[in-house]
Amino acid sequence: MGSSEKPSTVQIALLATSSALTTLFYSIYKKRAATVARLKEAKKVPIDQDLKNYLSDIPGRCVPYAVVEGVVKSVKETLSSQYVNNCKGVIERLTLKEKKMVWNRTTHIWNDTEELIHQRTNTVPFDLASHDDEVAVAVRVVRPLDAAELDLEKVYENFQPATQSLSNVIGHFLSGERPKGVCETEEMLRLGESVTVVGELVLDHGLAKLQSPKQGLPYLISRLDFQSLLSKQESGVRLWRVLVLACGAAAGCLLLLLLWRRYEHRRRARQERRVLLEFKEWQRRRMREQGVDEEAVAPGACAVCLSRERSCVFLECGHVCACEPCYQALLRPKKCPMCRAPIDRMVPLYNS
Ligand SMILES: [Zn+2]
Ligand SMILES: [Zn+2]
Repeated sequence: MGSSEKPSTVQIALLATSSALTTLFYSIYKKRAATVARLKEAKKVPIDQDLKNYLSDIPGRCVPYAVVEGVVKSVKETLSSQYVNNCKGVIERLTLKEKKMVWNRTTHIWNDTEELIHQRTNTVPFDLASHDDEVAVAVRVVRPLDAAELDLEKVYENFQPATQSLSNVIGHFLSGERPKGVCETEEMLRLGESVTVVGELVLDHGLAKLQSPKQGLPYLISRLDFQSLLSKQESGVRLWRVLVLACGAAAGCLLLLLLWRRYEHRRRARQERRVLLEFKEWQRRRMREQGVDEEAVAPGACAVCLSRERSCVFLECGHVCACEPCYQALLRPKKCPMCRAPIDRMVPLYNS
């Protein structure tokens, strides 16, 4: 067997990578799981006539982590889509991306990639209002661009393919980059959209405000209702848990394999040493029995009869330690006197 005691560089690198990935995935998983736990504990606050009274009665006039569902309403101005008629909103994001294919020299495949060329986001102040038109109370959403998750609707997309000529194509094969074109998108948070905002809810000078929460809690603005938002986060946590378990199992198996190989190698080395010592002892005993002096035995003498010249090779072990008559005299199943490996074949040696 070709197993050596020292693990190879590749094995060490694999073990290090899988351990590092396990640690990384675990920290992400823990963070995501903590977020879900905090989301479940977050206080659901309805937008109703009692909202301001409720807030002024609680200590600090603040709910540290609140879930508020409502309808997007502009405060004064609104933003109009640059491409779609009668499409008004409070957040508008314009993105210009270059799509291209890059030649992967390892896999020999063209891979699709995107490169952000330009992005601009415009916002105007906006409120969350009740779904019920009768309720006049609204909650201001402060600094929406700080949100860890800001879920906008894609209202416009235009893809402008790159022009291809023969000389271009040759250039692309040489450079390993083939442009596909430029993609322009417009995303908006539209007026009248139902959204869920999770953040810190405060009453500040008579104005109810939602803002980025403290203690590293994520600020979320989503077009999903709270239940769907929670399920989405939970499925993300499950995915990370699977990744942690898979990576951890791989690292564990690799470690066990390396330890087992090391143990096997040492066990075999010990066994070989023991057999050799026993052989030496056996040989010394034979010398005593035959009254032969250790010094008088020629280095090439048969290890069994101690007199004739060694004249055969034992396979598979390859030892040359006995003469042919002694080989014939070995009891069946024949074993090499030196290492005790079974003798499959004997090859006579012819000295010229
Ligand atoms: Zn012999
Ligand atoms: Zn042998």
